[in-house]
Amino acid sequence: MRRFLSYALVLCILGIPSASHALPAANSQPWRGLHVLMTSQNKTQQLTKVVGELAKLRINVIVAEINYGYEFRSHPELRAKNPSKKTQIKKLLSECRKHNVRLIPQFQCLGHQSWRQHNFPLLVKYPQFDENLAQYEKNQKIYCRSWCPLHPEVNRIVFDLMDELIDAFGADAIHVGMDEVFLIGQDGCPRCRGKDKAGLFAKAVNDYHKHLVKKHKLEMLMWGDRLIDAAKINYGKWEASANGTAGAIDMIPKDIIICDWHYEIRDKYESIPLFLKKGFRVWPAGWKKLEATKALVEYSRNLNNRKMLGHLNTTWGAVPIKDLTKFEPLLYATICFW
Ligand SMILES: [Zn+2]
Repeated sequence: MRRFLSYALVLCILGIPSASHALPAANSQPWRGLHVLMTSQNKTQQLTKVVGELAKLRINVIVAEINYGYEFRSHPELRAKNPSKKTQIKKLLSECRKHNVRLIPQFQCLGHQSWRQHNFPLLVKYPQFDENLAQYEKNQKIYCRSWCPLHPEVNRIVFDLMDELIDAFGADAIHVGMDEVFLIGQDGCPRCRGKDKAGLFAKAVNDYHKHLVKKHKLEMLMWGDRLIDAAKINYGKWEASANGTAGAIDMIPKDIIICDWHYEIRDKYESIPLFLKKGFRVWPAGWKKLEATKALVEYSRNLNNRKMLGHLNTTWGAVPIKDLTKFEPLLYATICFW
């Protein structure tokens, strides 16, 4: 541990102006976050083992993306392979609370309902929810499948799953994902065909907000890329929306926390001040490139805005869970900046 701390401190000395340490957070600790894919019980157990070490690195929020990797009782047919048991989640939660780490579950909504040739459980068991039913055999020529935001039955089932996760995680917040939704308002969908894609995307966001924030009184987080207009900010069609959803930014509640992800080095990350100006709280997210993380963190801090929450380190499998405490961007962002 000491070796890593020393390394991180050297990075600080080399890379950061001392004045940057003075930025305040809004009435609380900065959010020094880590995002982890936790889609099997093995990963849950591995994460539980390192919570204490992560807390020593000043991590105080973990976003655990679990999706279908939980032993759901309301819909056992939607359990992914090797799902986490409730007792295992409770053990992780206990460890997080012991070390003052906030644990936020993530359930990926709308998009990312498949990976390569494999559809995820919702669309396997309920293919009628697919936005592109009977199209794109073996998922060729598409990135990921989406569920249809207008299917009258989909939210009832998704909310059952969310409710179980809220209970298991003792959650006071939930991350709904919603990044990289390319398939929305498709001509092949009899409900969505011809409808405004921003309106469709906003409807989905508002449906989840109504359930999570208004009903359950939780905080809601989501990725920001579909709310950024790729024609106005030159991020490309992944990091920003080139498929008509960006107008949703003005159709959704401003108490949602926007996780604005950027993994490449840039001089400016113009979407961050955009979201702040709209009234959102923003939690910028980096990944594995140390120089890009440096640029993103420094840019965020220099905006000196009270709605800037801190920094979220994603991992996306680039580092094994057991080695998270050695992940250079994480060390840099947590120890040096926030
Ligand atoms: Zn549809």
